[in-house]
Amino acid sequence: KIVLFWFRRDLRLHDNHGLFQALTSGLPVLPVFIFDTEILEKLNSKTDARVSFIHAETKKIKTELEKNESTLKTFHSTSLDAFKKLVETHDVVAVYSNRDYEPAALERDKKIKTFLKDKGIEFLQFKDQVVFEENEVQKDDETPYTVFTPYSKKWKKTLKDHPISEYESENELDKLLKVSSSSFPKLKELGFEESDAEIPSRNFPEEVIRNYAKTRDFPAEEEGTTRLGIHLRFGTVSIRRLVQKAAELSDVFLNELIWREFYMSVLWHFPQVVEKAFKPKYDFINWRKNEEEFERWCKGETGYPMVDAGMRQLNATGFMHNRLRMVTASFLTKHLLIDWRWGEAYFAEKLLDYELASNNGGWQWAAGSGCDAAPYFRIFNPENQQKKFDPKDKYVMKWVPEMGMKRYPEPIVEHKEARERALRIYKEAVK
Ligand code: FAD
Repeated sequence: KIVLFWFRRDLRLHDNHGLFQALTSGLPVLPVFIFDTEILEKLNSKTDARVSFIHAETKKIKTELEKNESTLKTFHSTSLDAFKKLVETHDVVAVYSNRDYEPAALERDKKIKTFLKDKGIEFLQFKDQVVFEENEVQKDDETPYTVFTPYSKKWKKTLKDHPISEYESENELDKLLKVSSSSFPKLKELGFEESDAEIPSRNFPEEVIRNYAKTRDFPAEEEGTTRLGIHLRFGTVSIRRLVQKAAELSDVFLNELIWREFYMSVLWHFPQVVEKAFKPKYDFINWRKNEEEFERWCKGETGYPMVDAGMRQLNATGFMHNRLRMVTASFLTKHLLIDWRWGEAYFAEKLLDYELASNNGGWQWAAGSGCDAAPYFRIFNPENQQKKFDPKDKYVMKWVPEMGMKRYPEPIVEHKEARERALRIYKEAVK
């Protein structure tokens, strides 16, 4: 008799809640990872850096597990097919994993749970991706928050009342099932190729966090923000550990981690936001379906250096600074009046740190349609944004060196006209 631990978005051996629970269950644990064809088949790029990253990280985990005379059993199939095989070949009593709150993941987990239940196997899930989940931070009347500031206050109070502790999963690895090494697919066998994108370090940059309040808004500062996004997405760092660091070093930084939990909570309580505006009236906006202008925005050829620099940084590196995410998203939805869902999908394809909840939240914030969003009549002026947040043009010159030259495109729209058009169309929709 054994139990399985199913790794998903928690690719680490330390402070892993579900893994800890499995290891202390009293039965030997066989760790599993599934290269899920239902997810991989949807990716457009064969050099998707996120796949290379997951591949490299799971391989490291396998090496570590093998030092403990165990292994990481991997599959390249649907998750259901993987579990069908696993229950045929092993005497499985329970499957342990950490909760994932995205609608597609919830759907998948429901399917697996039903399948296992049929075989008399328990499916146990634990909180790991966030500090507080589901209804743990809610209003006194037990309804969910839809505004950030009161949510963050309650979140902090909840943390005070329920301090976090880490799970010492790393110290329990002697409870793993002793087995010989199992095979591991090459990236090519999964249908992908190595990406040359640079993955930021997972070490907590203490200096960056300490100076965060001063540096975070200036995209030219290479070390102005932590770039931990991809590690939070795939669980290669522990949110519990990071929150403890943040609480020690910078309240402004802690607030950003709370934004992450706020958007996760919004997605969990209002899963309709994946397709629809959180404020229903905003779905009456008569978006311009201008594919040519969308293309120019994607490529960073709008003629507005601040917008173009952001998009080019994204295309070249898979990262875009938060200030630019706000500027480019505002530009697409207000200046070009193009549906936030188009922009959201483009970011989802390109961002290394892509996270459904935060991306959707950020886009709906910029479009004015979301929870606690910017009011629709607040329209960023891209030139003023550049003056304020890149006063020496250092950031824009890096990505748009031809700025001011003849070959640089003329602005795709005139700011004043675009602003008036946006105000008119938005006003009509939300009246
Ligand atoms: P830091 O500034 O060092 O912050 C540390 C961590 O806190 C981040 O990695 C992230 O997990 C979290 N965080 C910071 N700011 C926010 C925020 N405003 N909302 C939610 N979480 C935050 N963040 C994503 O993680 N994935 C996305 O797909 C994503 N898409 C976005 C789209 C738009 C239109 C906007 C406006 C914002 C988006 N954000 C997204 C939020 C934010 O821009 C990024 O988290 C941040 O720029 C990542 O850089 P960093 O890792 O250096 O973050």
